[in-house]
Amino acid sequence: MTEKLYYTDAYRDEFECKVMNLYTDDKYIYVETDRTAFFPEGGGQTSDRGFLGEAYVENVQIVDGKILHFVENNEENVKKLQNSTILKGKIDMKKRFSDMQQHSGEHIFSGIVHKLYGYNNVGFHLGSEVVTLDFDGVLNEEDICKVESLVNEAIWRNLEIRILYPSDEELKAITYRSKIEIEGQVRIVEIDGVDTCACCAPHVKRTGEIGLIEVVNFEKYKGGTRVSILCGERALKDIRHKLNENRKVSVITKAKQSETAEAVERLMKEKDRLEFDLVGANREILFSKAETISDDKRIIVFDRKLQGKLLTEFTEAIKNKATDFVACFCGENGSYRYCIASRTVDLHPLARALNIAFNGKGGGRGEMLQGSLTGAEEDIRAFLDSITL
Ligand SMILES: [Zn+2]
Repeated sequence: MTEKLYYTDAYRDEFECKVMNLYTDDKYIYVETDRTAFFPEGGGQTSDRGFLGEAYVENVQIVDGKILHFVENNEENVKKLQNSTILKGKIDMKKRFSDMQQHSGEHIFSGIVHKLYGYNNVGFHLGSEVVTLDFDGVLNEEDICKVESLVNEAIWRNLEIRILYPSDEELKAITYRSKIEIEGQVRIVEIDGVDTCACCAPHVKRTGEIGLIEVVNFEKYKGGTRVSILCGERALKDIRHKLNENRKVSVITKAKQSETAEAVERLMKEKDRLEFDLVGANREILFSKAETISDDKRIIVFDRKLQGKLLTEFTEAIKNKATDFVACFCGENGSYRYCIASRTVDLHPLARALNIAFNGKGGGRGEMLQGSLTGAEEDIRAFLDSITL
């Protein structure tokens, strides 16, 4: 059984260990040691990374009760590990400390939610981007804001986070979250007045080290609520990024940084109004154009103004001018929406041939078919001029 150094000292980033076993497959060398400070993946948290000797440890897992360090199986690593019985381990402390901040923050968040609303944390995932917490009850925006504030207050109070190893008797007297059947010693993580929870992971010593918690999202999930949080440097980076985006919006809209949403809303309304006016103006231009189109066997029109409903309206307006068919196209750079109409010809074989030739899709019923395709205008024109009906 490997001694778990991460259990007793979360800040220990260097250690010496003896190699007990080396297992290999095509991809990895799995190193089993007599002791380790590497936290293995578990309970929704990814493992530590770092070095064993000079070999890079990219993952650590518990397999059949054994803690195995995953090292890429290549000639160099085999040489590095083969002749070493004693190795120096070195943890990537930047990742570890960030994980500790996220995990301790999660305990405070879950503890406060449990205290205020009685909901349980039934799912936890500490990934490389965000931390997600699933609660078995519904939290609204007001609840989330309240909890976020209380968690931050608990962080600023710089409370001690204690790790306890109670005896069976002592355990009976403790009320704690995550009461699952655990064989052997139960490890309790206690944050004064905020939370008590069974947990195997490394935690910060005092809540102040978490620095800051930010709720980045919350949504309904399986009848409860999924909350996404960031703690410490992750929260700072996220806020910095969002502030920077807001600063850019402020420059573009010439609005104060505190009034960007209002400015964007104004611009969107203005855009909708201009679009409405543009469609009206285009409709007038197109219908004047429709009047100038002479009767013909086949009429093919390409026009960028045929946007939205104008494509079908315009096609309808000139439909009777062609004895074979009318084909109208709107788009640019070889990507078009089309509308074909005819009062004499069954259009389905034509549309099928067109779609095959120009990687298109679409259809419809009756005398008018619609779709989209890609191709050069001159090729599409040539195809439609020459096709036999
Ligand atoms: Zn935990």
